[in-house]
Amino acid sequence: MAFGKRMEPASAVKCRLKKNDKVKVIAGKEKGKIGKVVSVLHEKERVVVENVNFVKRHTRPGGQTRHGGIIEKEAPIHWSNVMLLCNKCMEPIRVKKKRLEDGKKVRVCGKCGEIIDT
Ligand SMILES: [Zn+2]
Repeated sequence: MAFGKRMEPASAVKCRLKKNDKVKVIAGKEKGKIGKVVSVLHEKERVVVENVNFVKRHTRPGGQTRHGGIIEKEAPIHWSNVMLLCNKCMEPIRVKKKRLEDGKKVRVCGKCGEIIDT
């Protein structure tokens, strides 16, 4: 397909998640979990979701930590494994874009039309 417009990186089209979005994990070992997006890693096409995908990390004494040991931290998961949750439907939904009367673009729920951006 040839568009006359300038090319956008594929990730910009694909990722519709933002920090603080409420998402549900739809695939992988954390399937079914709900959490808040803590950060979006655009280059890696991954998101870090609060309380999802904890991994144990070994730390060494010295440096920034005073004690060595094991800490648990959320690891990024691929953003195709999560879906945005609609506050109204309380279900994972497909996001649609809508232009408001004032020209502002917002994300809306593909199911009920609820505006997700505030
Ligand atoms: Zn909805």
